[in-house]
Amino acid sequence: MAHSDNGFFGQFGGKYVAEVMRRPLDELESAFKDAMADKAFLEELATIQRDYIGRETPLLFAKTATEILGGAQIYIKLEGLANTGAHKINNSIGQCLLAKIMGKKRIIAETGAGQHGVATAAACAKLGLDCTVYMGEVDVRRQQPNVAAMEMYGAKVHAVTSGSRTLKDAVNEAMRDWAANIDTTHYVLGSAVGPAPFPDIVREFQSVIGKEVKKQAAERKLDVAAMIACCGGGSNSIGFFAPFIDEKSPRLIAVEAGGIGPNPGENASRMTGNASKDGIMQGYKSRFLLDDDGQALSTRSISAGLDYCGIGPQLAALGKNGRIEFTSALDSEALEAVKFFAKNEGVLFALESAHAGAAAIKLAPTLPKDKAIIVNMSGRGDKDIFITCPVFRPAEWKQFLVSELDRLNDGKDIHDAEIMGRE
Ligand SMILES: *Cc1c(COP(=O)(O)O)cnc(C)c1O
Repeated sequence: MAHSDNGFFGQFGGKYVAEVMRRPLDELESAFKDAMADKAFLEELATIQRDYIGRETPLLFAKTATEILGGAQIYIKLEGLANTGAHKINNSIGQCLLAKIMGKKRIIAETGAGQHGVATAAACAKLGLDCTVYMGEVDVRRQQPNVAAMEMYGAKVHAVTSGSRTLKDAVNEAMRDWAANIDTTHYVLGSAVGPAPFPDIVREFQSVIGKEVKKQAAERKLDVAAMIACCGGGSNSIGFFAPFIDEKSPRLIAVEAGGIGPNPGENASRMTGNASKDGIMQGYKSRFLLDDDGQALSTRSISAGLDYCGIGPQLAALGKNGRIEFTSALDSEALEAVKFFAKNEGVLFALESAHAGAAAIKLAPTLPKDKAIIVNMSGRGDKDIFITCPVFRPAEWKQFLVSELDRLNDGKDIHDAEIMGRE
């Protein structure tokens, strides 16, 4: 099940969309098929992956962590070293290049926490495309640093005021825009979710991660027992796992957000949780966290990227048939993993990626020393300082924010900046 069969992965997937969405999706599907067989397209993609994204990303032997845990060797795939700080740029660049060969000059995207918005805004800046990002009004308020970054890259951020004013409403607005502007516009969906052909497209553009890992592991003659990735919608995990899906080994382990506990509303565990059901939402059939009326449950995670009620259909199917094992990590375990790898390896995991790190910390001591575990660090943790600092250094952080506010109210630095801006 390395790719879909006509848009389906077993019983999951499909194209459950309004009639007006059929044409854009069908056009996208055939353009994508052509592009993947077009040598010039693939060469352009490889060049920009190398020179702009910074591929290939390193595979780091976590020597101290391995010694402390005393079992299997831990290796970390450093996707956080990709330009813009996470794996999301792999998909944004791929889809923006695809839009260009389809003759579309305008890009739209949805974003929740803002990471996909930032990656897409950057890709559009690099490729000279017009960019509009739909973002719930609540998220715009919560995620100002990412909004500022998108605007610096020249994107327009459209605050969505309908519904709960969060990610799912942003997706709905983006779909509406796409249907109305299909001739000029491509919709860059940010994870391995949504109606076909998006799950196939996103996996293909993210599979560069897994292809590099396969080569790097072979060069070093690693005996890989397990590969571990965190799983929100599922784009970094499915891209990391892609070249191994049709093989019997290694074990493929996806880690969901365990949040603060097992009860409905306390986590985002679609495969391991007890509120999970088959359902159809936002154009695809998969596993979702739903209430008894079939409405999306609210989810909870310290990591914004894993805080989503649905999971990509291919992951759901591979979980069901047993090729991918699912587990979860609590918020507290993810925070501990951030500290552990920062202190012992000098790498700062994003909170999302730290869920995979936490699973590796548990698994490594149970395996022999001649085996390897590869963890995908999907992103780096610089973006998380507003979440980690209040936890790790609450008093100092509070004092810092107060003094920053004083500085802004005082207005002196802003005034200086304005004067410099005029020069
Ligand atoms: C968005 C994000 C995720 C979760 O999304 P997937 O589609 O499941 O990969 C994980 N890690 C980071 C760093 C992210 O920004």
